[in-house]
Amino acid sequence: MSNKNAERTYIMVKPDGVQRGLVGDIIGRFEKRGFKLIALKLVHATREHLEDHYGDLKGKPFFPGLINYMASGPVVAMVWEGLDAVKTGRSMLGATNPLASAPGTIRGDYALAVGRNICHGSDSVENAEKEIKLWFPEGIVQYSHDLAPWIFE
Ligand code: UDP
Ligand code: MG
Repeated sequence: MSNKNAERTYIMVKPDGVQRGLVGDIIGRFEKRGFKLIALKLVHATREHLEDHYGDLKGKPFFPGLINYMASGPVVAMVWEGLDAVKTGRSMLGATNPLASAPGTIRGDYALAVGRNICHGSDSVENAEKEIKLWFPEGIVQYSHDLAPWIFE
């Protein structure tokens, strides 16, 4: 299997997605699309950890509210692997503002407000690697996926 089929992205169900019972649906979408689940955990993150995760947004007017939101309950942290995982993950999530998200996307199907938009997905391969290290310092399990020849050329 070539390396492009092993791109990784960090996907997170935010506290509103957990509370609203959308974890299974979101996992199911990534599974059915053909991505491979290589890490998964439920975690109630500290504010410090969340400030690290969203470090690039420090100083934005919505930053304090974003940290309150993200610290309000547990999140489901995941790593998914597959062809073009970062870009495809972002397109499966939809636009940052759910009102601009197409129906059929996660945010376009389940959310209305930018500050309650259900899910996170890495926006570049470089940021994915940083986020995976931040959320899974213990490392990632590797295993072979027998379906790969049916999903990738
Ligand atoms: N956010 C917000 N108000 C804004 C922009 C962003 O509350 O005007 C929140 C929203 O939850 C978003 C998160 O901050 O998902 C991170 O913002 P980013 O621009 O990185 O959007 P994303 O990558 O999540 O689409
Ligand atoms: Mg972002």
